[in-house]
Amino acid sequence: MEYADIKWVEGQPYSEKFGDVYYSASDGLSETEHVFIQQNNLIERFKQADRFIIAEAGFGTGLNFIATCRQWLEHASHDSVLSYVGIEKHPVSPLDIRRVSDRWAELTPLYTQLLTRYPPVIAGSHLIKLFNGRVQLNLEFLDIDEALKGCRFKADVWFLDGFNPAQNTDMWNDVLIDKIAQHSKVGTSLSTYTAAGHVRRRLEDAGFEVKKVKGHARKREMITAAFVRESQYKIELPWYEIPQQSCNDKTAIIVGAGIAGLTTALAMINKGWQVTLIDRHDEVAQEASGNPAGVLLPRMNLGDELEQQFFVNAFLFATSQLDDLQKQSSVDFWHKTGVCSQELKEKAEKILSSYRTSQGFVCEGEGALGDEVAQEYMILKYASAGWVNIDVLCREIYKMIEKRISYIRSNINSLNRVEERWQVSDENSILASASVVVLAAGQSIADFELTSWLPVKSIRGQMTAVEPTEKSKKISSALSFGRFVTPQHNGVHYIGASYDTDDMSPELSELSQTENLKKLQDQLPDVFVKPDKLTGRVGFRSVSEDRMPVVGLVPEKEWFLKQYADLRHGRRTTKYLPARSYDGLYLNGAHGSRGLTSCFISAELLLSIIEGTPYPMSADAVNALNPSRFLIRRLKRDQKMTA
Ligand code: SAM
Repeated sequence: MEYADIKWVEGQPYSEKFGDVYYSASDGLSETEHVFIQQNNLIERFKQADRFIIAEAGFGTGLNFIATCRQWLEHASHDSVLSYVGIEKHPVSPLDIRRVSDRWAELTPLYTQLLTRYPPVIAGSHLIKLFNGRVQLNLEFLDIDEALKGCRFKADVWFLDGFNPAQNTDMWNDVLIDKIAQHSKVGTSLSTYTAAGHVRRRLEDAGFEVKKVKGHARKREMITAAFVRESQYKIELPWYEIPQQSCNDKTAIIVGAGIAGLTTALAMINKGWQVTLIDRHDEVAQEASGNPAGVLLPRMNLGDELEQQFFVNAFLFATSQLDDLQKQSSVDFWHKTGVCSQELKEKAEKILSSYRTSQGFVCEGEGALGDEVAQEYMILKYASAGWVNIDVLCREIYKMIEKRISYIRSNINSLNRVEERWQVSDENSILASASVVVLAAGQSIADFELTSWLPVKSIRGQMTAVEPTEKSKKISSALSFGRFVTPQHNGVHYIGASYDTDDMSPELSELSQTENLKKLQDQLPDVFVKPDKLTGRVGFRSVSEDRMPVVGLVPEKEWFLKQYADLRHGRRTTKYLPARSYDGLYLNGAHGSRGLTSCFISAELLLSIIEGTPYPMSADAVNALNPSRFLIRRLKRDQKMTA
């Protein structure tokens, strides 16, 4: 993916590719205010909104977005959230955006916030939280067709701003207007500066009541429209359909107080939920999330584009969340030292070539101490990556939310649906009830009757702590080489972590420590001194059968097995009913070794499903995390399900 090639003509951004300007040459901002803000009556609607969804076809320089944010921040209540889906196939570079921002002094502070979070030019969904969480931008660097594929939200407003329809037939096609209709509800409004007859007719056919009104400045006419039908999404994979949730009140129980549970609790509390956090320990982060160090790095699986895209987008979001959290805390836990990752040369070259245009994301690096790298390897440097004291991070998140949640120490063992609420109990009594339950307790997410079929297991990981030496103190970035080593911090380097599939012992083991130290010695010969005793910590990562996290609703297993029993015969998908799951019962687990990377975005995914707002990732990624995938794969292979 590359930045749009913008020509500046008399101070205005112009696209040669499309032969059109990004906004009116006379006054872009007043055009935006007329066409998009006034014609959709946004100021009045913002005053009454609890949450509001705007989708824009053609995000461009972000002028419509920023002008809308300005009105939102001024008129909407402080605890309401604007979700803005900005779809853009040819992202405008930060330099060009800065030039636009300089043109309107009143918008510059808002643009500055956008620019600090503006993602590198990498295809996919980028979730960006702005203005203290009052605006959530889903920036889709994708063709509009791809961006709307399979996603599930109904916009309150559509902005159609995709260059002149005559010059951009790719975007202004019939399929697009049908998709816009699918993502609209009765009362959705739409506006566009064009008044082209075929656009008007197609909108009418798709269920909009269209009006021509006076255009901006010298433009005679433009279109506004209101959606007047009930619309249905086009269902492609019925077994991954996510039914609309009916959360009567904003109450949730989260089971598990590790990084997955805490990031979920934080995201929910920030959106006004009342949360009860339940864990079997007195304090948070007592299991895998109690590790003193973990590396934040995307998992680059070149054999699986979807997985790679998920981890890159998750990584970018996690770094921005960690930046925010670190700013709010006086204790250091986020060490943005960059990470140098050693890869086989062939893989490294492919990664560099895929991200050639986004140098800031990954570039060629050098050995940790400027040393030679073995011929078959190459070092990749991820400058915005780093390492985290996970235990400290968890405790800091807990401190931030402590006063607003209830914490119950208990080992829950049953979940019951009673009068549209979930009751959770331990062996003695009912502990709490709520409309939503999120199971975020590592491999224990499969400890319940309704989830016991989930293919998750735990894998032991032992970290080793070593003292710095004169040589090792020069290591400034974290290194990843199958294991990882952090730069020294408070007089310790952490080496992590072993991957012991056959060992379930919680005690430190000589064998794992020797293995960690051997890998370190192979990587950085004679830099460290072997500790004379066992040091470090043991944790158990939970992993799923396909190594992807398990995030989403709990499917109704028996119903699945019956309805989709003949899936392996390859009947048309339209023959099947959409999936059924337990209303309000969610999973967020199996984050494996990359939980730091995947937890933040997974928490946002859950919230978007619960609240019916746009997903923070592509629909394909949502499916790849969907717990139903295990049932579907087995049915396709016709394997017997064992609990
Ligand atoms: N709203 C923008 C702003 O505030 O600066 C101006 C948008 S400009 C008129 C049109 C935008 O649509 C361009 O940025 C262009 O790259 C984008 N675009 C064109 N075809 C597209 C497609 N098929 N999918 C997504 N975006 C597309």
